Amino acid sequence: MGHHLHTCQKYSPPAWAPAWLKAPEERFLLALQPTPIHAWHPPDVPEGVQVWIKRDDLSGMQLSGNKVRKLEFLVADALQRKADTLVTIGGIQSNHCRATAVAARYAGLDCHLILRNKRHAAEQDPGLVGNLLVDRMVGAHIHQVTKEEYGRVGGTKLSQHLCKLLLSQGKRPYNVPLGGSNALGSWGYLQAVQEMLEQFGKGTITDIVMACGSGGTTAGIALGNYLSGFGARVHAYGVCDDEEYFYNFIDGIFADLGATPDVLGKTSRDLLFAHQAKGAGYAISRPEELEAILAVSEATGIIMDSVYSGKAFHAFQKDMQANPDEWQGRRVLFLHTGGLLGMYNEAAELESLIEKQGRAHRLDVQAIPL
Ligand SMILES: *Cc1c(COP(=O)(O)O)cnc(C)c1O
Repeated sequence: MGHHLHTCQKYSPPAWAPAWLKAPEERFLLALQPTPIHAWHPPDVPEGVQVWIKRDDLSGMQLSGNKVRKLEFLVADALQRKADTLVTIGGIQSNHCRATAVAARYAGLDCHLILRNKRHAAEQDPGLVGNLLVDRMVGAHIHQVTKEEYGRVGGTKLSQHLCKLLLSQGKRPYNVPLGGSNALGSWGYLQAVQEMLEQFGKGTITDIVMACGSGGTTAGIALGNYLSGFGARVHAYGVCDDEEYFYNFIDGIFADLGATPDVLGKTSRDLLFAHQAKGAGYAISRPEELEAILAVSEATGIIMDSVYSGKAFHAFQKDMQANPDEWQGRRVLFLHTGGLLGMYNEAAELESLIEKQGRAHRLDVQAIPL
């Protein structure tokens, strides 16, 4: 059977998925997949630890990163329900909102985004930097709220409010949850485990390492890794909340999938290790994190983002240094979840670090004999 992008197909879960797992029936193909895997030699990895990288940053171009896999199931659901508009919410440079805006157009849907911005900035036009360029080039409708309003009202209520407003205008909105992280969206990463099995087989990879933000990627990987027998240790590096929050949130997704503790015999605490990688706060970088990102890009050509993959990778490096026995002899798969577009918003912070490498030089064209 061909793999035609931008069509809805019947979805059959992998053979290892038990019958009690609540599976979707349709999938709207969006991602370029399988995403590549290659050996990777980033700096500050102790000798004796082998690292591979799975390039989910290459799942597309304007539609790229980990959200694309979740949107395959969420968009299919929206189409099945005859929605005409996707609604979602996130930070001003949200990769998830940008991916949703593009996926909406691919599927012939309209898109409304609620974007959280600094108080003063929310009064003004958000501009065209980074993810916003794509949001706006695909014609997403942007509704800004301040951080304070977001904190006070909450993302769920804000989204419900906008959906009601659109309904009253005769639209048929479909609410995509924060980060695409609900049970349905997590199927993107249950399915990704099948892809990894086909790429590696069982027993090759001992550890999977990834950033964790809204939790759906980790939920899918951790459950798929267990149910399929892929058999790796799963490490989620949280960039916004603490470990307890993520264990509880992921247990909620498991329950919605039908994988309650009595059915599964396990909870998220048995299936993954949550680590803290928040640093100075969500989307706030410390110099050491930006330096680690630059060291990796200079040495290997891989560009990680400062909000998710870079923070996770930096915390992973620290963890290997602090607990060498835990990591000695391991074969690690680092999941690159994307985020490059957001880096266009970090130019001011990166400037002084990049200037340390030396300024750009003027080529002496006068010296060329004509
Ligand atoms: C959203 C995001 C993540 C986190 O994934 P979740 O499923 O929300 O936990 C990681 N990396 C990037 C680049 C993202 O945009």
